[in-house]
Amino acid sequence: MWDLCTLCCKLLGVEELNKPVGTWCSHCKKGEGCGIYPTRPEVCRIFECLWLQGILPEKLTPQRTHCVFALAEDGKVCTVNADPDYGQPWETPEVQLAIDALVNCGITVVVACGNRRKLITNDPAMMGKVVELVEGKKQ
Ligand code: SF4
Ligand code: SF4
Repeated sequence: MWDLCTLCCKLLGVEELNKPVGTWCSHCKKGEGCGIYPTRPEVCRIFECLWLQGILPEKLTPQRTHCVFALAEDGKVCTVNADPDYGQPWETPEVQLAIDALVNCGITVVVACGNRRKLITNDPAMMGKVVELVEGKKQ
């Protein structure tokens, strides 16, 4: 039986559908895919998490880590959307290693888990910045 990853359809928001962050999209068939695949919004068409892009190690599947890594268009900020139903899944050693690697490459990481936000950066300009702009949207 197929168990396809659909985690971004839960953790990320989709403005076109008024779908809030952190709740399953009403069109999602969990573990199967999108119920409106041919007509899904543009943001859903273009979104690829870092694991899907092959940037994260193969074993760090979103299904296993309960985290969806989403890189901003400018490549400077990566949001780690973590599933609060699994506690604090960004704190596992393997996810921490991935976060450290991104930060060491100069990328600012924002962990988003439920209402919590955590900023991890080596960039002094980002220190103390209010991260209200990062709302877990697919774009
Ligand atoms: S983009 Fe990533 S999180 Fe979304 S379904 Fe694909 S593998 Fe899962
Ligand atoms: S429209 Fe489809 S791809 Fe987009 S969030 Fe909903 S289920 Fe996922």
